[in-house]
Amino acid sequence: VFVCFEGGEGSGKSTQSRLLREWLEAEGYAVVLTFEPGDTEVGRQLRRIVLSPETGELSDRTEALLYAADKAEHVDTVVQPALDRGEVVLTDRYVDSTLAYQGAGRSLAVAEVEQVARWATHDLRPHLTVVLDLAPEHGLGRFEERDRIEGESVEFHERVRAAFLAMAAADPEHYLVLDARLPVEEIAAEIRAELTPLLER
Ligand code: C5P
Repeated sequence: VFVCFEGGEGSGKSTQSRLLREWLEAEGYAVVLTFEPGDTEVGRQLRRIVLSPETGELSDRTEALLYAADKAEHVDTVVQPALDRGEVVLTDRYVDSTLAYQGAGRSLAVAEVEQVARWATHDLRPHLTVVLDLAPEHGLGRFEERDRIEGESVEFHERVRAAFLAMAAADPEHYLVLDARLPVEEIAAEIRAELTPLLER
């Protein structure tokens, strides 16, 4: 089973993915918790390039291709091998982040970004994507440190948010959208409830 967490900055993806891992492990499942960008050797280097303010200007297509490279490495060396072993894979961000940030955020043609991202990932799709929805004004500013993306305008982050919601609305069977301002435990319980039937299949 392959589960993705998506959402804007500060929406609680890493907290919720960790809680879900703990619960799954307690239930006896083997779990791989991973993230994008950067959870492979080459990915760490790509993450530094795409996120360090020192990178300076990066063309939108270059950025999209670097994220795609990170995904290719991630799927080939982490995600697919774990799924082949029968493990549950949880990832903090995946293709939808690219469609939202590099597509809707940067204003590249989403269909083109999607083609590249689908090629990079062998069109591997999650069984469930959890979108933790949060208005940018609530999520941004949770961190002091700013990466290249957190410093983008509120409008940029509004486009990202709208993109996540639109993807979820177009495919409700594969998405769970939750208000990220709900209590942490309440969100965790909703995610467990949604996932349970998928684990039993
Ligand atoms: O999820 P995490 O905080 O590790 O993401 C790091 C940064 O990368 C965030 O600022 C996020 O907005 C950005 N990002 C991006 N495009 C992606 C994935 C992440 O701009 N496809």
